[in-house]
Amino acid sequence: MVKTVNAPDGFEGPGFFATGVDKIIGLARANSLWPLPFATSCCGIEFMATMGSNYDLARFGMERMSFSPRQADVLLVAGTIAKKLGPVLKQVYDQMAEPRWVIAIGACASSGGIFDTYSVLQGIDKVIPVDVYVPGCPPRPEQIIDGIIKLQELVKHESGNRRNSPEYKALKDSYQIS
Ligand code: SF4
Repeated sequence: MVKTVNAPDGFEGPGFFATGVDKIIGLARANSLWPLPFATSCCGIEFMATMGSNYDLARFGMERMSFSPRQADVLLVAGTIAKKLGPVLKQVYDQMAEPRWVIAIGACASSGGIFDTYSVLQGIDKVIPVDVYVPGCPPRPEQIIDGIIKLQELVKHESGNRRNSPEYKALKDSYQIS
């Protein structure tokens, strides 16, 4: 069965439907996200299962994984990130064009997880801003999909001006992101 997305909020009458440009853009973006998987360890294996036929991430309009940051708009970070890898992760994020979003998959990416050690970054939000955190060690594919659906809701309702707002600029400045 083919399932189409619901129309955004708007006004309708006989023969017409009107809505905002922001809502149309949000709807299109939310259903055509191109993820870049940045997988370093066990959570990456769960993500591979999420891509497999049982869970089939392609159902969400996200079939096309990108391994180039310049052709991706969602960074999926799955796994333990060593402090030495932090600058690499930040460089990958820097190379993505706006608008871009980030999901931290699992305890390690979200907070360092069980690795409270000198060498492990205690959460990727120490180097880049994160939009959605997926808990679990590892999270099941259902949880990863739930995180992606939550991101789709954020994308759908993002204001068209957000990326030019002083608040967004302040957020980027706090991470020294150009
Ligand atoms: S959260 Fe758990 S499963 Fe995921 S990378 Fe860390 S140790 Fe592995």
